[in-house]
Amino acid sequence: MKTVLVVDDDASVRQQIAKWLGSAGWHVLEAADGTEGIQLAIELQPEAVICSLLMPGCNGFQICRAIRERAGVMEQPKIIVTTGSVYATDRRSAIEVGADEYLVKPFKADDLIRILDLGQGRRPVAAAAPRPPPKNYTSLPTDVPPRLKFWGVRGSIPTPGPSTVFYGGNTSCVEIRADGEIIILDAGSGIRPLGQALAKEFSDQPINLTLLITHTHWDHIQGFPFFIPAYSPHNKVRIFGYEGARKGLHSTLTSQMESPYFPVSMRHMPGNIAVTELREREFQIGNVKVTTAFVNHPGVCVGYRVFTSAGSIAYLPDNEPFQRLRSHSGGERASDYIEALKYASAQDQKIIEFIQDADVLIIDSQYDDVEYQSHVGWGHGCVDDVVALALFAKVQQLFLFHHDPDHDDAQISRMLDRARQLVALHGETLAVDAAREGLEHVLNPTAKA
Ligand SMILES: [Zn+2]
Ligand SMILES: [Zn+2]
Repeated sequence: MKTVLVVDDDASVRQQIAKWLGSAGWHVLEAADGTEGIQLAIELQPEAVICSLLMPGCNGFQICRAIRERAGVMEQPKIIVTTGSVYATDRRSAIEVGADEYLVKPFKADDLIRILDLGQGRRPVAAAAPRPPPKNYTSLPTDVPPRLKFWGVRGSIPTPGPSTVFYGGNTSCVEIRADGEIIILDAGSGIRPLGQALAKEFSDQPINLTLLITHTHWDHIQGFPFFIPAYSPHNKVRIFGYEGARKGLHSTLTSQMESPYFPVSMRHMPGNIAVTELREREFQIGNVKVTTAFVNHPGVCVGYRVFTSAGSIAYLPDNEPFQRLRSHSGGERASDYIEALKYASAQDQKIIEFIQDADVLIIDSQYDDVEYQSHVGWGHGCVDDVVALALFAKVQQLFLFHHDPDHDDAQISRMLDRARQLVALHGETLAVDAAREGLEHVLNPTAKA
């Protein structure tokens, strides 16, 4: 006689299943909770285990894992997970942790017996359906001047509400349209409205785009799970970035979509998504050249410079000037301090060279000069430094970016005034704006002629 173990905290469910299977010739064991269920499964090694998914203490996922981890040590039963949940993601998760079958309550005796009688052993895992080949992508017009648009301008965390409505509360995301390419800088929460706009613009036409990730802090990747174009099998989404501090780019992007955090895994996003970890400091997106530089920010973080046919855009959303940081560090011998400052100055010089003569500079200006004093080492810049940097590098247009989540619209406007005053004090012509959601900037091709 074959043995089946029924694990369910609902006594009426256990009794019902025991009655059905008893009369079908099975020997039925019962457990009222998951821990007891795992013990019985290990000790008595039944041919089948029927376990409820949601039980306090120890759930069906844990039972599956505990049994499958003992493959080779104990006979492996067929495992059927039962649940009231109809969500496809729960079904997938159960199969992934080792369930053979998944039955939604209420089910009938026939369904259960049919599954049990389908023989022992694990059900072969069905191969994933092949993805349809991508359609031909519509060529974007190349005769329109390159431009950029801000979709998310905030640092750290989204800050919706009446006090941020002018500049916007979404985290980092900038769209560039240039020379037939759609290039997106970072996937903060601003990428969600961008995705909606792209879906509307392209309707049923396939979209081909490139997403450049500066680093994997949450405010630069958190919008990706909500990016509609990644859900169409006709679209092509190329993601570029550098390996993170502890894990690879691909693994960091996929782990934020694992089932404890999000219902759809990146593997199940139907768009043709390709993640590439960059090794070079210079690469091409069609006719657009892109260069990168490592910046001063915790972990691995880069800035991008995008060279369009009408000028270049430098994007450094998170950066704390090296020299500023080192000049605040104390407790060193004078000679060491001078050496450290020299080194920091050389590092800052590299950043200046990286952004030299950029038509547009979008850069971390999270703090004002006073706030910076209490945020040394946080990895962010301040307005005074950013203006100095832009003037040194002879930038044309500066956008203050990565606004502090604690700054309301009035505060950002004050910081913008301060930046413009500094430019005027130096008798320079640098144009300064504070980045705000929806703001577009068209590069001027004639200025490059
Ligand atoms: Zn950031
Ligand atoms: Zn960051």
